[in-house]
Amino acid sequence: MEITPLHRWIADKIGVTGAHLTKARLEAYQLGKLQETLQLARNHSVFYRKSLAGLPGENISSLAELTRLPFTTAEDLHQNPLQFLCVSQDQIDRVVTLQTSGTTGEPKRLYFTREDQGLTIDFFQQGMSTLVNPGDKVLILLPGERPGSVGDLLVRGLQQMGAKGIPHGLVRKPGRTLEILKKEEIDALVGIPTQVLSLARYQEQGGRLPVKLKSVLLSTDHVPRAIIHELERSWGCRVFNHYGMTEMGLGGGVECEARAGCHLREADLYFEIIDSKTKEPLPQGETGEIVFTTLTRKGMPLIRYRTGDQGRFISEPCPCGTSLKRLELVKGRLEGERRLTGGVITMEDLDEALFPLEDLTDFQAVILRQEGSEKLQIKVKLAAGCNRDLLEEKIYRALETIPLIKMALQQGKLGIVPGILEQEGSGEVRAVKRSIIDRRGWEER
Ligand SMILES: [Zn+2]
Repeated sequence: MEITPLHRWIADKIGVTGAHLTKARLEAYQLGKLQETLQLARNHSVFYRKSLAGLPGENISSLAELTRLPFTTAEDLHQNPLQFLCVSQDQIDRVVTLQTSGTTGEPKRLYFTREDQGLTIDFFQQGMSTLVNPGDKVLILLPGERPGSVGDLLVRGLQQMGAKGIPHGLVRKPGRTLEILKKEEIDALVGIPTQVLSLARYQEQGGRLPVKLKSVLLSTDHVPRAIIHELERSWGCRVFNHYGMTEMGLGGGVECEARAGCHLREADLYFEIIDSKTKEPLPQGETGEIVFTTLTRKGMPLIRYRTGDQGRFISEPCPCGTSLKRLELVKGRLEGERRLTGGVITMEDLDEALFPLEDLTDFQAVILRQEGSEKLQIKVKLAAGCNRDLLEEKIYRALETIPLIKMALQQGKLGIVPGILEQEGSGEVRAVKRSIIDRRGWEER
């Protein structure tokens, strides 16, 4: 097994050889960069000048002291994004406006300089070199029309390693995307889990299309294991996970050949795991909220940014042989948890139960209260050309594999309301994180 390419890349950035990239060397580098970032933020960002006033600054003398500094939240970014800027607006090359899903959030704005984007392009080059070779063709099923968008930066990263990225955008008509796959002789795909699944499960004239792919990189949303298995089975490919968000500069971490947790951009980002309730750092190996601090960003550095994502650092060393950390698969958003009679249910529980159903490519889950009792409404999106026979029965059986749901059903405390969302290929396509919608409050009023 080859060591993650991030190992050599990060060693180079720190100025040591791969063999000398130890935890201590990396942490010494991170501390130095952290001190520079704090100084930059205090001197140039209106927000941090206020929030860091009176707190230890450039003279923090250990990474542990970072935990004494306040967090930055999505709410802070909503309120006045310009207050985060550390350069003049004409030095900003790319502004990303994030429309949050649902009705609760105002849009967020993130600002990047050309240099900030260059760091992301380098990360994409390194990360992609695990799954593709020079000369390969990669179809990118992510937004890529605008310069500086994720698709555009990925094309540039692939170009740097001699591979060809083809921006495609989100999958709207799976049949058409599959035609491109065959015509262009694509080697690898990058996309959103449910969208890539819609390709693997697309049927024409009663059968699936024969497709051979070398590898698939899944990004943007948490990745159900059931989807990984299905893609590997259908296409004989290897499936890799990427973890990132716009606030991280789009790229955060990527799996190595071991495919057992993401290695992170540790020369550009410093990660912590905290208890979301007490806000204290958690011991190594425990699951909590992922918090990061930018170490090299110039336009809009972020200090202790709370992602709302959950994960944990794996204590055992990676089989690939690197000394870099590994982040275990993100287990859904914190707000993804919903309380039902008898316990808590997550989108992950529903994903692992429902995605093994052969004809399904996505679903929406809503908890309702009707006539005083709780109902779980599951509206499924079906693959084009699939079989609808016994659909309701299959959904019911799949949900029964979740112990909490089975118990609630047996006790008559929960009802299941199955339905069909829409046929694949119709309706609006949005790249948003999926979560369980709770409408119990509405029905009660
Ligand atoms: Zn590894």
